[in-house]
Amino acid sequence: MTLQINADLHCHSTVSDGTLEPEVLAARAKANGVELWALTDHDEIGGQQRALEAAQAEGLKYLTGVEISVTFADTTVHIVGLGFDHTNPRMVEGLADTRDGRGPRALEMSNQLAKVGIHGAYEGALKHAGNPKLISRTHFARFLVETGVCRDTSEVFRKYLTEGKPGYVEHRWAKLGDAVQWITQGGGIAVIAHPARYHFSPTVEYALFSEFKQHGGLGVEVVTGSHSSAEALRYADMAREMDLLASRGSDFHSPTESHVDLGKLPPLPAGLTPVWSQLSDRVH
Ligand code: AMP
Ligand code: MN
Ligand code: MN
Ligand code: MN
Repeated sequence: MTLQINADLHCHSTVSDGTLEPEVLAARAKANGVELWALTDHDEIGGQQRALEAAQAEGLKYLTGVEISVTFADTTVHIVGLGFDHTNPRMVEGLADTRDGRGPRALEMSNQLAKVGIHGAYEGALKHAGNPKLISRTHFARFLVETGVCRDTSEVFRKYLTEGKPGYVEHRWAKLGDAVQWITQGGGIAVIAHPARYHFSPTVEYALFSEFKQHGGLGVEVVTGSHSSAEALRYADMAREMDLLASRGSDFHSPTESHVDLGKLPPLPAGLTPVWSQLSDRVH
């Protein structure tokens, strides 16, 4: 595969917290000039077969994908998996366990929001969830926008759904090593998603990258919808220094909420090895 192709290896469908169906995303990716695509729903691979078939129907190259929620240093970190076997039982069961905590967490979020006068948030969020097992903060955010509590989802996160705010509930996700192993044992490559989002100190960030590599992780997202151009350059340096493959993905969720559309990203900075150069035998 050529190195500078329009690869978009991170986005979400109604199977997690996106607003478009996998088939609609495939068509949008194709129309936007994407040449290699992966759907990476949170903690869920139930959309993979649909995405793969829709991509094939569009004549679009496809890699299987997932974005796994992990707890590292008391912080939620996201690990993207690419090109793994989506029928691997270890992955299927591991993700089911990871998802299990979402229901009780959502009920607790709703109880906390009720204490600040926002009622019916659980039922309201559930109506926005295409997949009730995957109820997420995004669905709560959409409910609070719908009911006029906030103007947009960013405001909801700022005021209600982040650490220290009334609707935020501490949660334990998967272990870093487990998530990486589910991906690599199924023949895929594990990638640290949007590293600038975690705001780790240099020491903790180094610990994350080192432990990730020790577990068999190979890649890092350099160009993503969540990074500024300065952050992309910073993590390009990090990829070179730590000998990691570089990934690129919009993290597209919705035409009205996402700032970066599918395939509408800058190219990877020079001097990096793209993750897709090591995945040509995994392309569908
Ligand atoms: P959860 O997995 O339930 O904790 O929800 C995490 C999701 O919330 C992320 O994948 C994003 O889609 C969304 N999210 C997190 N922070 C923000 C933010 N500041 N503004 C908008 N969406 C956010
Ligand atoms: Mn999301
Ligand atoms: Mn993420
Ligand atoms: Mn994402």
